Amino acid sequence: MKRIIILITLFTTIFSCKKEGVFFDNAFVIEDINLIDPIDGLKENRSVVIRGNKIIKTFKTNEVEISSENKIYPGKGKFLIPGLWDFHVHFSFERNFAEAMPNLFLAHGITSVRDTGGEIDFVNPYKKTALEHPKTKSRVKIAGPLIDGKYNVYDGSSPYFPVLSIQNKDVSQLEKNVAYLVEQKVDFLKAYEMLSPEQFKTLAQIAKKNNLKLTGHVPLSMNVIEASNLGLSSIEHLRNIELSMTNQSDALFEERRELLKNKNQIKGSALRSMLHKKQRMKSVYDLDSTKINQVVDVLAKNNTWQIPTLALYINFAFKKFKTPEYLSLLDVLPKSKKEEWIEKINASDASVDQQTIDYTAWSSGMVNYMHKKGIPFLAGTDTPIGFLVPGLSLHHELEELKKSGLSELEILQTATINPAKYFDLQDSLGRIKSNYVADLIILDKNPLQDIANTKSIRAVIKDGNYMNRSYLDSLLKQ
Ligand SMILES: [Zn+2]
Repeated sequence: MKRIIILITLFTTIFSCKKEGVFFDNAFVIEDINLIDPIDGLKENRSVVIRGNKIIKTFKTNEVEISSENKIYPGKGKFLIPGLWDFHVHFSFERNFAEAMPNLFLAHGITSVRDTGGEIDFVNPYKKTALEHPKTKSRVKIAGPLIDGKYNVYDGSSPYFPVLSIQNKDVSQLEKNVAYLVEQKVDFLKAYEMLSPEQFKTLAQIAKKNNLKLTGHVPLSMNVIEASNLGLSSIEHLRNIELSMTNQSDALFEERRELLKNKNQIKGSALRSMLHKKQRMKSVYDLDSTKINQVVDVLAKNNTWQIPTLALYINFAFKKFKTPEYLSLLDVLPKSKKEEWIEKINASDASVDQQTIDYTAWSSGMVNYMHKKGIPFLAGTDTPIGFLVPGLSLHHELEELKKSGLSELEILQTATINPAKYFDLQDSLGRIKSNYVADLIILDKNPLQDIANTKSIRAVIKDGNYMNRSYLDSLLKQ
């Protein structure tokens, strides 16, 4: 009899506690998960309440009794991180692929992307669609076209150089073109390699005046210190910084200024390739530690963000895309795109050259050194360039950043809170805290143990919309 009473008491206690527990109206709860905030790090056994598009509360699971009436997603043994950014993508590099890219991003946990160059009328609709459908589309920030000089590189003259840029014959044409981009409400501006110093200066002033970040490749007519001091907020692919890091940098600079006059009127793409060929490895093989430190100190002082796109370089240098393992990754692409890429990959040159390998080793080492000196990093890929699979390739970039010596938590920062800071969104995006936008990923395995575990995606939450694995798989089949 006594035992029955105890059992009844126990049963009613549990039952009433649940009934009386806290109920979150119009919300759902991810219960008892290991939360990884990119600033605070790992917090075990937390529950997270999401209402609308926001995280409204996080708490220790055992501190708050919640009602069983809540909509609950069990999180036990799993890991919660903020949604990831790919900070360097090109919707318009392969136009027949652009439509398929948003689903690939979302299915791989990429809840935001930054498009770093494409015709404004082509990329703007992707941004607008994302704004109209925040729960099912990844956020899109755009630069519009690369802002290039008189001999612009991406001029549409071959499939390798589609129209990604605008040509600017002089300063006044640049002013007009950039005013139009500002009017179109681009999110940042991108300087390209063939700008003259005068054009770059003007562009930097316009960016500052409109409170827009200016990213880019260091123009070949300038050195990196000058560009950074004038307001180049971030540098893509570490492009052209090595030219300012060698004992020969003054001589190389003079040579470039001469060749940039382009007496034979060759195409911008050919002119740029010629200059890279002449000077890149000459610089990398003759680096000077004093010069390196001069550059790195200025970049650190100016907080010049780096998007090194290491996976792009490694993939190309070792022709990784030709391996059976890599080819099997292409299964997530639409059938026609997969066939097109396989055909191109089979036709591409298989040779691996030592200079390209040396360049990637230099890049990876430079990331390590800059990181030690406090220069901030952002994770970006350049997809779909180089047969990089949209979405998946960002996870490969994270693994390359690990090889460059960043800790797992620092790597998560490069794809979460750092991009948020870049766009001044750090108070609402990129962390797991009350009042932050609920862009989140649930992982089966701990990314702080192995950064490759960011691929173990169980669910993606975009703007408060919970998408489970089978839904994400269905996105990959479309
Ligand atoms: Zn790019």
